Amino acid sequence: MTNFNTKKPAVFIFDLDGTITQEETLPVIAKACNVEAQINALTEQTIAGNVPFVESFIQRVGILGQFDIDIVKTALSKVKLFPKLTEFINSHPEQCAIATGNCKEWVNGITEKLDCACFSSDAIVENNKIVKLNSILKKEKIVEHYQSLGRTVVFIGDGNNDMEAMRLADVSIACGLTHYPANSILAIADYCVFEEASLLRLINQINSPQPGTSIVLSCAGIGSRLGLSKTKALIEIEGTKLIHLQLKAFEEVEDLRVVIGYQARSVVKAVLELRTDVVFVYNHDYFQTKTGTSLYLGARHANEYCVAWDGDLVVHPDDIQRCIGYDGEYVGGSRIISEDAVFLRVDDQNQVTSFSRECGDFEWSGPAKIQKKHIRYLTSNVFNQIEGLLPLPFLNIRAQDVDTYEDYKNAIKFVKSW
Ligand SMILES: [Mg+2]
Repeated sequence: MTNFNTKKPAVFIFDLDGTITQEETLPVIAKACNVEAQINALTEQTIAGNVPFVESFIQRVGILGQFDIDIVKTALSKVKLFPKLTEFINSHPEQCAIATGNCKEWVNGITEKLDCACFSSDAIVENNKIVKLNSILKKEKIVEHYQSLGRTVVFIGDGNNDMEAMRLADVSIACGLTHYPANSILAIADYCVFEEASLLRLINQINSPQPGTSIVLSCAGIGSRLGLSKTKALIEIEGTKLIHLQLKAFEEVEDLRVVIGYQARSVVKAVLELRTDVVFVYNHDYFQTKTGTSLYLGARHANEYCVAWDGDLVVHPDDIQRCIGYDGEYVGGSRIISEDAVFLRVDDQNQVTSFSRECGDFEWSGPAKIQKKHIRYLTSNVFNQIEGLLPLPFLNIRAQDVDTYEDYKNAIKFVKSW
C-alpha cells in the first residue's frame, strides 16, 4: 500500500559556472588556450542577446575544441569552489545534482570534487580533442526528471541558460555570489541571495524545519496611497532611506527576509549598501496582491516563528527588541494616530480579541509574531491572516506607519522625537 505520508526529501540542482565556482570558468579556459579575444567577443554577443545560447555554445566548442582536453581540464581544476556549498553537496550527495551546459570532458576537473550526480553536455573525443558535440544539456529536462520521481526540485542558478529550469522548478534561487544574476531569471525566481552564508541558510531551511525566528520585511508594494511614486522602502525620512532605518533595527537578526516586487532592483541595491546576507523573496504578483501574500511568500521556508513587519512601519528603537525577542506569538499595536486606521480590541487579559474598521482600543500597526505553520496563502492583508488566530497577546509599542502623505509627515516628526 502506498504511504502518502512519506515525504521524499527535496532535490537541489545546482548550476556549476558562477554558482558553485567562485569565478566564471569560460574566461579561465580562454586564457589557458590563449583565445581570450575570440571568446570575449562571443560572450559579449551572447550576453547582449544577439547570439542565442545554443548557437554560442556550438561556436565556443568550435573554438576550444582545437585544444587538448587536458589543457582545459587542468585550468579548470584550479578554479576555486564555494567551500560551504561544496560541503553541503558532499554531505547530501543523494539530494544534490549538478546541471551544467559545459562538456563533461572539460568540467571533470571540477566535478570530481563533488560527490553528487552531474548532468552535462556530451561530446565525441578523438586524440584528446573534442571533435563533435553529441548533445547539449537542457537543464529543464533534469528538473522534469526528478519531478517525475515525485521529488520537490529546488534549482539554484545565475544565468540566462538556467531560466527554463528555474521556471519549472518547485523552488528557484537566483544566485548572485559571483556576479549579479541575469535579468531573465530575476523575473521568475522565488529567491535571490548574494552571499554563500545566506544561500546555505536558505537551503537548510528548505531542506528541514529550522528553529528560531525570521523577520519578514514586506517591501513589495507600489505605495499608491502615499503618492511619491516610490515603493515605501525607498522614501527618505530625515535623509535616511526607510529601508536603511529598518536594516539598522534588525542588525542583530540573522534571518532577515526582504520581500520585493515593485522597484525590486532599486530595493535590492539599497539593501546591499548596508547588508549582503539578506534573503530576498520575490512577490512577482505585487500589483494584484497585498501584504498577506508577501508574508506568506516570505514565511514559506522561514524559521519556526516569523515576525511580520511591513516595510513602511517605523518603530521606536527602544521597542524594537521587545518586538523581535518576544517569546511566542503576539499582535503589535500603538495608540491611535492614523485617520484611516484598522483598530484592535484588547480585553482586560491583554489579549487582542478582534480587528475592526470602526473602533477599538489601539491601532493595528504591526508587527506580529506568528508561527510559520499558521501562515497560509491569501491575497489580502496581514491582519486577515491573523484574524483566525485570535485571541493573541497584545504588544503595546510606539510605532507609526506611512500609508498617506499625512502619515509621512508624522513619521518624520516621530523619528525626530527619538
Ligand atoms: Mg552559471
